[in-house]
Amino acid sequence: MPNELQPPRGTHDLIGEDQRRHQHVIDTARRIAALYGFDEWSTPLFEDTRVFSRTLGETSDVVTKEMYSFQDRGGDAITLRPEATAGICRALVTNGLTQSLPQKVFCAGPMFRYERPQKGRYRQFHQIDVELIGSAEPLADAEVIACGWEILKALGVAGDTVLEINTLGDAESRQDYRGALVGYFSKHHAALSADSQSRLERNPLRILDSKDERDRTIVANAPTIAGFLTEPAAKFYARLQTYLDRFGVPFRENPRIVRGLDYYGHTAFEFVTSKLGAQGTVMGGGRYDGLVEEMGGPPTPAVGWAAGIERLAMLLPDPPRVPAPVAVVPVGEAAEAVSLNVLQALRHAGIRAEIAYRGNLRRRMERANRIGARAAVVIGDDDIAEGVAQVKDLASGEQVAVALADLPHRLR
Ligand code: ATP
Ligand code: MG
Repeated sequence: MPNELQPPRGTHDLIGEDQRRHQHVIDTARRIAALYGFDEWSTPLFEDTRVFSRTLGETSDVVTKEMYSFQDRGGDAITLRPEATAGICRALVTNGLTQSLPQKVFCAGPMFRYERPQKGRYRQFHQIDVELIGSAEPLADAEVIACGWEILKALGVAGDTVLEINTLGDAESRQDYRGALVGYFSKHHAALSADSQSRLERNPLRILDSKDERDRTIVANAPTIAGFLTEPAAKFYARLQTYLDRFGVPFRENPRIVRGLDYYGHTAFEFVTSKLGAQGTVMGGGRYDGLVEEMGGPPTPAVGWAAGIERLAMLLPDPPRVPAPVAVVPVGEAAEAVSLNVLQALRHAGIRAEIAYRGNLRRRMERANRIGARAAVVIGDDDIAEGVAQVKDLASGEQVAVALADLPHRLR
């Protein structure tokens, strides 16, 4: 294999502790999401490009700069999914599920964005994702957020994060607010970044989300949406906060949160941390009542979030450990046959067990230590005659004879 073959920029292999951290995030999220009534879906890693270009918004960074799009051999325009929500809404429509609402969906898997790689930012990264499709009630928003909070708690990272919430109001609130933003940012036009100058024409709300330092100081003094909320929109936001209190989820308001994609209204929120440098958002989401309709379905309210598995994995306090195995050590050929029976009996009893493929007693014991075995089950010809094995505790060095039939029970 030529050694110049490197993984593509922005991708990374998951091996050993990295994979265990990653898997622990998924397993924990899957378990908590199930308690909240979410069912797991798997949708394709690639979709018709229009699934994303139509719905994420022409002005979103994802669509303008970050999509992995290509033509396949049949000439179809394909995009590797940059996020999960659009594909889930597409699946809802194509599977005729818009008549069986609400649907509560959990999913986990890789996402692809052509970004500048850095700590916590990759081109292939992974997300866990929760979507509640079919309820327009703020209780749904609160439940989705509470589920996210419980996942962060179960992972032991909740103490490192703060939930920030905002409202983007309803269409009428946003229209008025948009006008005010255009007025404000137009006065600072020359000082804005080139990106934000073009956002000003197409979607001024997006400027609030800018990561450019020059923009940030201007954004700090921009009007907030609070003064533009219609009465129903203000009420919705107030009820969300009441429900979050009832679920016991602490939060603080941050009027700058608009989220990266164009389809949000009412609730927008992020769980942020100060422990990961510039890549501080670990989980983000909000309400996207127009998306299913954009996908060709009926008007359908929905709310959800996505969280970056790599960022959560980095925050995990302790690396999840694999249970130490038991090493089965045959001494002699006759013993090997018995050993394989013992090996399988241990595995059937739920005990992680291994056997070396060759080698004398000394080599096999060395290997047992190397793989971190907690015990060695040594089986020699004398033992077979007596129907026992010698169980050696590799930490204490203590050794006892145990009847073969008792091994699974004794080693559990
Ligand atoms: P950011 O502001 O960090 O670019 P975003 O607003 O683009 O995030 P979302 O589209 O909301 O992010 O995705 C939800 C979560 O997925 C983010 O909060 C983050 O944890 C994770 N995420 C997004 N892009 C990447 C990436 N390129 N690499 C690793 N994780 C990512
Ligand atoms: Mg981004």
